[in-house]
Amino acid sequence: MKKTKVYLLDGGSMALDRSYLYLNAGLTGDERFPVYGVLIDHPEGRFIFDTGFDFGHTCETVPFTKPSQTPVQTIPGQLDLLRVRPSEITHVINSHYHIDHCGGNKHCSHATTICHKCELEAFRFPQESEKLGYSDTSFAPHLRDQPADDALGSGELDIFTPRFETLTGDQEIAKGVYLFETLGHTAGHYSLMVKLAHRRPMLFTADACYSQKNLDMMCIQAGNRDEDQTRASMQRLKDLAELHDADLFFSHDAESYANYQKAPYAYT
Ligand SMILES: [Zn+2]
Repeated sequence: MKKTKVYLLDGGSMALDRSYLYLNAGLTGDERFPVYGVLIDHPEGRFIFDTGFDFGHTCETVPFTKPSQTPVQTIPGQLDLLRVRPSEITHVINSHYHIDHCGGNKHCSHATTICHKCELEAFRFPQESEKLGYSDTSFAPHLRDQPADDALGSGELDIFTPRFETLTGDQEIAKGVYLFETLGHTAGHYSLMVKLAHRRPMLFTADACYSQKNLDMMCIQAGNRDEDQTRASMQRLKDLAELHDADLFFSHDAESYANYQKAPYAYT
């Protein structure tokens, strides 16, 4: 049987002030950080976890993040390195729907879209403070046109592309591929763990922990829906890594990212 492979899909970079990246830590000055997605080539399908940002949308809505992205650093560009077409992606999983995690979803037109039930709700009916973060609706432009009482999970959403599958709690979505609830950054945030044949499990934090430095300082970033919950999720990731003897892969960590292997290299 075919073995699972994991590829890191480089998506370019953005920059923010350290006072945002390390909340109340007294740090200042711009810090540039990477954005990336993860392709899991698995016997049960081709899964992508997070799809980076759309350059045009990001320049338009949050130019202060100074986005940098070449055509190769897009979902089609990265998949092309692997001779995979976006239409061959069977599932797109989003840790959450912030613009730097779902910008490439729209390219995977045949995929089922998986997220936490509460995340889909938060994205459909964003709070005022979350509207900018949730502003890239390009992968499901009609989603917000649905009336609020349209019961999620009723199947009625399936008339739209993409098809949504919502989850709650920890889940094994394919053999050896786990989603762990790490709430707080947003209402329905998931981190991902993949077990592989020839190395320690890979635990992708997504925005429940931006970087090794955040973890070392137990210091969260700004812009979370619930700060206490975000801290608890950071601790949860630490505990999960220990429990499963997993390697942590941080979402926005320039120093760590320099040592990660990127596509076309495969972790196996
Ligand atoms: Zn985020």
